[in-house]
Amino acid sequence: MLAPHLWWLIPMLALVVVLRFPMLGRGPGSTKRDPWRSFKFAARATVMARAGGRCEAPLFFTWGRCSSPATDADHIMPWSKGGPTVVSNGQALCRGHNRSKGAFVPPWWYIHGLERRRRDYFPDGADVRVLARMSEEDRAARLVPASSGPRRRIRPSTTER
Ligand SMILES: [Zn+2]
Repeated sequence: MLAPHLWWLIPMLALVVVLRFPMLGRGPGSTKRDPWRSFKFAARATVMARAGGRCEAPLFFTWGRCSSPATDADHIMPWSKGGPTVVSNGQALCRGHNRSKGAFVPPWWYIHGLERRRRDYFPDGADVRVLARMSEEDRAARLVPASSGPRRRIRPSTTER
């Protein structure tokens, strides 16, 4: 049994569990990695543009906003944990914030805070929601050659080696 003076550990541990919990229903639902490793072309341009080219990281906990220019299109749900390379899973970060984030799976309050801050700076009509899942639209966009940048042709998987 726990010594009487150590009972405070139980609420502390419960708090840690709650604070680390991810936001339900927003994850990829699988840990399978997207064959597309990084944001390119139109997807990258969209992530950067809707953030106004500025880092989207908070200054403290979930408040404020970093004032550095964005340099990286980051996977909110890490690519290594099954987060797809789609605009709804992207955020613009400065180099420093991207480095410190690493492969950290963001908890619910991180997502909630980001979506709340985004309402102030996202262009009208842009979806502030974080969704680490590939939509039918995302899938379809990969099948047509990008209008800017080098053309890429996706061959049907039957002819792929
Ligand atoms: Zn930053």
